[in-house]
Amino acid sequence: MTVDEKRKLELKTMYQIVGIYCHDKHHTPKGKLCEDCEQVWQYAQHRIDVCPHMAHKTFCSVCKTHCYAPIYREKVREIMRYGGPRMMFVSPIQVIKHMYLEWKDRKQHTK
Ligand SMILES: [Zn+2]
Repeated sequence: MTVDEKRKLELKTMYQIVGIYCHDKHHTPKGKLCEDCEQVWQYAQHRIDVCPHMAHKTFCSVCKTHCYAPIYREKVREIMRYGGPRMMFVSPIQVIKHMYLEWKDRKQHTK
């Protein structure tokens, strides 16, 4: 998997999770985000775009550098906690792929 592909998969996963969260919690129509969630999503997008570690890690969840500003970090954590498990029902293959890559990365780093 290339760095670009990783970045794209991370973005796609993130967007879906924010979407699930916003749809359930803020009752926004599917495919839309409310103002608050849009802001979090824009921020996350930017972080993923500029992440200097993409080349040698897989996803933000395994990263040692916590590049999110505290105010967004809390929000993202809440969104992830809610939307993460629900992703299993929306696109299980994508989640499994994500988990596998994460696991591979962790194994490499602990050697
Ligand atoms: Zn929302």
